Amino acid sequence: MSVTDIASKKNSGASPIPQLALELAAATRMLEAEDILDYSGHISCRIPGRDDAFMIQIGSTSRQELGPADILIVDYDCNVLEGEGKPPSETVIHAEILKARPDVNSVIHCHMDLAIAFTMMEGVKMLPMRARASRWKSGIPTHPDPSHIKLVEQAVDLANTLGPHHVALMRAHGLVMTAESVRHLYIDAIHFKENALAQLQVLQSGAKPVPLTEEEIEAIELMEMRDWHAKKLWNYYIRKGFKEGQLDPEWQAALTPTKESMKREKMFDDKVLAKMKR
Ligand SMILES: [Zn+2]
Repeated sequence: MSVTDIASKKNSGASPIPQLALELAAATRMLEAEDILDYSGHISCRIPGRDDAFMIQIGSTSRQELGPADILIVDYDCNVLEGEGKPPSETVIHAEILKARPDVNSVIHCHMDLAIAFTMMEGVKMLPMRARASRWKSGIPTHPDPSHIKLVEQAVDLANTLGPHHVALMRAHGLVMTAESVRHLYIDAIHFKENALAQLQVLQSGAKPVPLTEEEIEAIELMEMRDWHAKKLWNYYIRKGFKEGQLDPEWQAALTPTKESMKREKMFDDKVLAKMKR
């Protein structure tokens, strides 16, 4: 059975696959609209309850037109198990990172211009500049291999460069980024681009960048509500995506949180606030 077949039976079962395929397709289209993906780049995600395979798009499908029917299920040797089409030539990146990082459920590889620029500046490192960049406090390593990653050995090297971090730049090529879900990965990619732009603007002004200090990052993280923030941004971008015609109208009910449900969300962590007031 292909993902498409499963997707057509969407309302008949509780399988998370159709919903995840839809989210993966929607996130891809929206990241293309944000100039984070383009004619290349891809997102993968694990399939709950399966440790033999993950989802990724058909390599040749336009990132602007991706739908759940274009999502393949592939094993960790990059063989297609379900769906018709060939996975991207750099699928091995996803396989090796997902193998190396059990804490990660979704991976993006993209060729974001702003990120690549930071791999070509002598003596300049990408730094956590904006508040949301506290996500990358552990570091932003750069992988030295600028070639396309098509071999397992290359992908293992890249996964080693990434190590325990949430992102790694790839010299003159792009980046890889990881998160706990497709939605979290989406918002991280948005914030990563914002942060790169902020640092570049400071550098272009001729001033010395002043990144977040460890103390500032600690204070930011104390107030952080990552899941709520991801939900808020997803709600914003998904609605924008439908308004601007990036997404198919028939996906609306499956992807858009209702205004009512958003109203009920807690925006403060009472325990943290009580601690701050003391
Ligand atoms: Zn690439």
